[in-house]
Amino acid sequence: MTAPVVAAGTATLAALDAAYRATQARTAIAVARILFDRWGQVQSDSLAATSAVFLRDAVAAILLGQERAVGTADAYVAQVRRLQAPGAAPYTLPTRKPPTAEQVRTSIEFQAISKTARELYRVENVRTTETDDPEADRESADRSAEGRKRQLMEEAISRAASSAVRYITTAGQEHVLAHIAADPVATGYARTTKPGCCYFCAMLASRGFVYKEDSFDESDARFQGPGEAKVHDSCGCGMRPSYSRSDPPPERNADLEQLWIDMKDLKMPGESDVQAWRRIYGASDLAQPFSA
Ligand SMILES: [Zn+2]
Repeated sequence: MTAPVVAAGTATLAALDAAYRATQARTAIAVARILFDRWGQVQSDSLAATSAVFLRDAVAAILLGQERAVGTADAYVAQVRRLQAPGAAPYTLPTRKPPTAEQVRTSIEFQAISKTARELYRVENVRTTETDDPEADRESADRSAEGRKRQLMEEAISRAASSAVRYITTAGQEHVLAHIAADPVATGYARTTKPGCCYFCAMLASRGFVYKEDSFDESDARFQGPGEAKVHDSCGCGMRPSYSRSDPPPERNADLEQLWIDMKDLKMPGESDVQAWRRIYGASDLAQPFSA
């Protein structure tokens, strides 16, 4: 065990990380609830005519959620900085990226309405005849068409709600990264994850701290892909800033980093790093969602 003073500091940071992730998740869930609620007024037989209120309220809720997520990120970074770089000079705080109302609207409109309209059209217009009793055929076709339409409507709102959650989580993550870029005292960041997080986020967290100045080995699977925030559906990760190269990474990240190193010896012939990681992380205690 480490000395009590260090343990207390580490515990405080871990508590801040967990509170940040929980607050962002609550904001995202509250917005998703609004979308589900408004979706109740949308009718599958008149999508275009009944979806205006849903779209308007969904976009407004997502933009407000993003604003809250940015505020949560501001407060979290300020707390971590006070602990890790006490007395450091103030810096010019990053401004929020301008809201992307039009982009949000287009994406929700596509996920919930346009895509669904096309699928509903197919259900209505592609029917098959199976027996020589046309009336029975029509009844059973109507029944299965109704079921299929209900299912399409459920899939539509799930897609839209997932997008909403992603927009909000990403706004928070990107804003933490904007702080790190703007703050001359900040050295980098580590992705913070919950026990049992998905293999992809665990892989990114296994990098420990990623420093601003470093150039990366492009053959390392953990540094590939667009953007640093890399938020996927239902991703509940955070980003913890570092203020010194001697800051120890979050405890879970250190355990994940060790597992990444061990994984190299446990790879099976023909397995890529990512495939081996998925298998080995999945079987490890770190993939168990026990409470932190
Ligand atoms: Zn994640």
